[in-house]
Order: sequence, then structure tokens, then C-alpha cells
Amino acid sequence: MDKQWIIDTIGQFAKIGIGEKGITRLAFSDEEQQAKEYATKLMQQAGLVVRVDAAGNVIGRLEGTAEDAKVVLTGSHLDTPPDGGRYDGVVGVVGGLAAIKELMARGPLDNHVELVVFSAEESSRFGYATIGSKAMVGLANPAMWNRAKDQDGMSLNEAAARLGFSFADLKDAIQDAEKIKAFVELHIEGGPLLERTQHSIGIVEAIAAPTRLRIVIDGQAAHSGSTPMDERQDALVSAAMIVLAVQEIALGHQHEGTVATVGIMRVFPNAMNVVPGRVELGVDIRGVNHSSVIDTLQDIKDAISTIADGQETPVSIEVLVSEKPVVLDDDLVLTVEGVCHELELSFLRMNSGAGHDTMNMARIVPAGLIFIPCHEGISHNIDEYAAPEDILNGVAVLTETLYKLAK
Ligand SMILES: [Zn+2]
Repeated sequence: MDKQWIIDTIGQFAKIGIGEKGITRLAFSDEEQQAKEYATKLMQQAGLVVRVDAAGNVIGRLEGTAEDAKVVLTGSHLDTPPDGGRYDGVVGVVGGLAAIKELMARGPLDNHVELVVFSAEESSRFGYATIGSKAMVGLANPAMWNRAKDQDGMSLNEAAARLGFSFADLKDAIQDAEKIKAFVELHIEGGPLLERTQHSIGIVEAIAAPTRLRIVIDGQAAHSGSTPMDERQDALVSAAMIVLAVQEIALGHQHEGTVATVGIMRVFPNAMNVVPGRVELGVDIRGVNHSSVIDTLQDIKDAISTIADGQETPVSIEVLVSEKPVVLDDDLVLTVEGVCHELELSFLRMNSGAGHDTMNMARIVPAGLIFIPCHEGISHNIDEYAAPEDILNGVAVLTETLYKLAK
């Protein structure tokens, strides 16, 4: 394994979209496209045959020799949130290519091995995540995506079309599950658990899925000077109570692996001299245990209705997204575990709080997700850091896992 190449190549990707406060390669932006083109060049240099599907997913293929060969698929993404880091996604793409290069050096394999760079994994630009892998497994929703606009008013479909990808042809991106043996992704943990418990490798058993709510609190906008305190219907006061209730409820469900966050608050009219008449909140609830997520959701709804009544501020709740947690393939977990034993690397079976492309792939093929530690759990930030030793351990585990699946 060419260790220096791996570290250097991650450094090369970090130059694409670099700004003062981080790396910005938004979904279907020129920067993401540039990173994909660089990945294409590297795949071709390695001797892979590269194709691009209708969703803009880039796929490099190493041909297997068996007559009934199936595809062993690995990969990740190259887009980032605004001011993101060097490792999220990139480790899985560069690590995947390094693994395939090592497999090539070992001689012909029975099965095909493919490396995929998924389009638009991050939701920052359009509000929809894992676009490329959704398209690949038939979960694309171009009609809905067409209504999703970025800050400049450009729709997701337009942004893709600008780069030459026609969402009218998204059906062509769907992969035939019968032809795929397994999918394995290498990724930084994006959380603090591995570093804190001093494990080299995380073997993911389940991926939490988000339930997202849009909450609108209607109060009565009024003059902040002349409206008596006991006659107000202050929407922001109710919103503040809801934020605290969400935190308290989620703390009570934390032991079941569930978390909840109020990440959006919009105040109207947002003026110093007006009692807030309306507030919109965005709430994100996640867990790996579906019934715990449902319980958390119900508790939040109950608390909101109590607050709405008590404060005389009507509240409406809209469920934007409610996805079921994904359980990953048991056999693959055991395979990766076996590899860790062979390589004498400490490992931890764990859950993923964040969504990944693996989540979609798991709906149609056996799928696995391998985590490496990242410093202090920091991710989606310029301070995101994975130590070279941890990256190389991850690539070694990925390499042997792919070898077992493909040989
Ligand atoms: Zn990622």
C-alpha cells in the first residue's frame, strides 16, 4: 500500500474549494465537479474504466475474471458543507482507490470491484442529502428536488443540469441489485467515541435516520412599549420554552441512542420594538431505535401542545421527513471484525448518528460502514482532523474486506 500517496492525495483534494475558513464544495457546484474530475483522472491513471451516471455519480471499474462475477462496490462523496473539512467523504474515495490499487497488485480477482464517488451527499445547499446514492437505489424524487432552491434561487435540478446531468434520465442511474455483491464505505466517525475509547476502527451496525419537524408558533405582534406584560402572546417566549422542552425530552431518551436539536429559529418581524408575532423552528430528531424516535416525537408534540395552550400561542407542527433507522448487514460486520482481528487493530461495534450514502445502499444490497477516529469528534469544520495512522488503518481494513469479498 502506497501510504504516502494516500496522505498526499487527500492533501490534493483539500486544495479544491479551499477558502479562509474551510473547504467549500457544495452539492452540484463547480468545486464538487472539479473534485470529481480530479478523482476521475486518478481512477483512469490507476487503470480503472470510468463512467458517469445521470445523477453525476462517477464510477470506476476493475474487471473481475469469473463468468458469474458480481460487483463489490466501495466509495463515498467529495462534496462538503460550507467551510467543511479535509476528510469527510474524501477518506472513503481516496482510501477506496488506494485499496483497489493494492488489490490490482495482488493479481486478478473473481469479482468486479468498483469505486463510486457519490454526488451531493451533504444537505447544506438544497436541504436534501445523499442525492447520488438515492438515485442509485431508485429513491430519487426529482419533482420534489425541483422545488428545492439554494440561496440564490437555483433549483437542485437546474444545478445538476448546468453540469450536464439530466434528472429526467435519473432512472438510468438505478443499479441492478442482483449484480452487486456488497457495498462498503470508509468514513471518518464525525463523532468523539472512537478517540475517547481509544479504538482504531468503528464497525457500524446501524445508522440513525432523521425525523425533521417544522414548527410554527403564532403569537400576536404588538408594540413592545405599550403592551402590558400580562396581555402578550409572545411567540418567541413560547419558542424558547419549546427549545428547552426538546432538550429535556431528548436528554430523557439519550440512553436509547436518540438525540434532538432545534437548529433553526426564525423570528418575525424580528424587530427590537415589536413583541414577536410569529416564530418558525426547525427540529431534527435522530436515533437508531425507531420506537425511541417515535416516543421522543410524541413527547415533543405533547410538550408543545401544553406550551401552546398555556401561552395562548397556537402552534402547528409539520413532519418534513421521517426516515426509519437502517440496520447494516450482519455478515459484513463479522467480515470486518475478522479483518480487524487479523490486522490486530482494536475495534468497536457502534451506531452512526449521522446519515451516510451507505444508508441508501443498504436498502438494496448488503452494506457495511467502517469508521476511523477523528480528532475530538469535530467534523464539517476546518478543524476536522484524522491522523495519518488512523487513515492508513482504515484503508488497510477496507482493502482486506474488499479482498475477501472480491477474490
Ligand atoms: Zn460524509
